[in-house]
Amino acid sequence: MKVKLVKKILAANDRIAEANRRLLSDAEVFSLNLMSAPGAGKTTLLSRTIGALGGKLRFGVIEGDIQGTHDAEVISAHGVPVVQINTEGACHLDANMINEILPQLPLEEIDVLVVENVGNLVCPAEFDVGEDAKVMLLSITEGDDKPLKYPLMFQKSEALIINKIDLVPHLDVSLEKIRRDAQGLNPKLRIFEVSCKSGEGMEAWYGWLQGRKESGSLHGAL
Ligand code: MG
Ligand code: ZN
Repeated sequence: MKVKLVKKILAANDRIAEANRRLLSDAEVFSLNLMSAPGAGKTTLLSRTIGALGGKLRFGVIEGDIQGTHDAEVISAHGVPVVQINTEGACHLDANMINEILPQLPLEEIDVLVVENVGNLVCPAEFDVGEDAKVMLLSITEGDDKPLKYPLMFQKSEALIINKIDLVPHLDVSLEKIRRDAQGLNPKLRIFEVSCKSGEGMEAWYGWLQGRKESGSLHGAL
């Protein structure tokens, strides 16, 4: 019984996600679902990306947080449209939350919409919100066991950004193990190793994002 219920909820979510995807593609908006554990650096990645590419691409952001507006305020300082969803306890965003908030964004003035999901390595990967691509951010400080412990997010993402690589010399972690395990779960996964703090490695990510936006309507078929 319980399994059936969960399946029903996911089926309903997928229908609303399809409607979101149509709405966004009609407005020629390329959308990303950015997922990670809390503290991996999603907002910093986003700030830096908007700072670097903001002259070429018009960004819009949906901030998902259990409560508060801290990250939305950080992003809003870049002068891009931002809306905040407070899930009031829910540990992921779903398609309906996105559907309800999309009318508040000037979609005609947005090329790339980034949905910053609630910090959580588990259920955000289960809920399609209507995005063109899922991108996962993993901080090296989380350890090298995460791909095998939380496989779904690695399997569902098109790109994995490994952040805080400037800290590798201070940690007992293996970048090689993360790469090997993540690609074992998802052979098509693109992996970027970056430091959002120093800027190291960010150019490759910017290049991927621009190229992926160009092929946007492929809906994850890459
Ligand atoms: Mg954040
Ligand atoms: Zn959840």
